[in-house]
Amino acid sequence: MSERPQTVTVLGATGSIGTSTLDVLARHPERYRVHALTAHRAREALLAQCRAHRPALAVIDREEDAAWLRERLREAGLATEVRAGPEALVEVSEAPEVDVVMAAIVGAAGLLPTLAAVRAGKRVLLANKEALVMSGGLFMDAVARSGATLLPIDSEHNAIYQCLPVEHRGGLARHGVTRLLLTASGGPFRGWSRETLAAVTPDQACAHPNWSMGRKISVDSATLMNKGLELIEACWLFDARPDQVQVVVHPQSVIHSMAAYSDGSVLAQLGNPDMRTPIAYGLAWPERIAAGVEPLDLFAVARLDFEAPDEEAFPCLRLAREAMAEGGTAPAVLNAANEVGVDAFLDGRLGFAGIGELVARVREACPVEAAGELEGILAADARARREARAWLARR
Ligand code: NAD
Ligand code: MG
Repeated sequence: MSERPQTVTVLGATGSIGTSTLDVLARHPERYRVHALTAHRAREALLAQCRAHRPALAVIDREEDAAWLRERLREAGLATEVRAGPEALVEVSEAPEVDVVMAAIVGAAGLLPTLAAVRAGKRVLLANKEALVMSGGLFMDAVARSGATLLPIDSEHNAIYQCLPVEHRGGLARHGVTRLLLTASGGPFRGWSRETLAAVTPDQACAHPNWSMGRKISVDSATLMNKGLELIEACWLFDARPDQVQVVVHPQSVIHSMAAYSDGSVLAQLGNPDMRTPIAYGLAWPERIAAGVEPLDLFAVARLDFEAPDEEAFPCLRLAREAMAEGGTAPAVLNAANEVGVDAFLDGRLGFAGIGELVARVREACPVEAAGELEGILAADARARREARAWLARR
């Protein structure tokens, strides 16, 4: 352990991952100090977190919420400085005094601050999978160039990371790895047919059997788009081809993923479904720290089941695999269309099966280009959102 505490910025502090991160940090005050906390609209929650964790900085989207927060903090006698807007997210990610950035904003909104942390060479704990899906090649190049330490927080990728040799760059084959086995709970609608899925509600979709998460990723888990985004994420993180990543439905969510080797060995990482495990791993790597997670009771688990995903009822997984195989801006288009579709579903403007349909139509409407520069990726994202809104309006 280093002598001085590590300073940590938590992007998306008020969310599900952000809250779990602060829980782990608070267990180790001698190791970590909170530098900045950020939120989008949740000013009350951010205020409570500032009281508890006393960061140097707090960032919120709107100036009116920033003014409200400044006033409350002043009344409480806290020295936390408050900033507003997306540029402030970038500032607290790249600030020289920051050692670690937890990237836990949901969706494309997290791309610029996460990339800023990468370019500044931080230890980046990546929960915001959409950022990597959109900009994979550019993102991984930036990691290599800056020397940033990228640690996956998504439980599956964290599991695979733990099952791979410490040095695993340069292609899986070089390290004797033949396949990555990405486990999936199957979501709340596992086993449902295409027909019965048509009428599901947002609340049903957000009631995940094993994990408690934000609403966007909960819907993604229900459509299996989450597993599709994770397949793309795995390809970039571990230099894998889409056909080297096999999705395995495992309803108990005890095995978080596996790596298969050429000698027949399959290494798995197991644990209770609690995101504090991967968060603690990312914070302390290569050391281990307590995370507050219940020890795994295998007798209570009793059995581990496995089945193949149903890509007919859940087309999003196939759409994501195709986007990754096509490359270029295709994953950014897929992600943007999905974000618009999930929003529309959560607002009651689109049925559950409509999400996959919308993604497929937007992919057809948007030409795929090489994903060279950030500008091109952002333009593809914007175009896909326009196409998605137009499709929604036409129906
Ligand atoms: P959440 O909705 O609970 O929290 C999102 C956070 O981001 C909040 O703090 C919110 O204020 C902030 N935010 C939202 N929109 C923003 C915007 N436009 N600008 C700035 N900040 C914004 O989401 P979550 O479940 O914590 O997920 C966060 C990320 O982690 C997602 O990318 C998700 O896919 C990933 N992830 C989550 C889990 C989980 O268990 N929750 C597991 C694996 C990966
Ligand atoms: Mg996951």
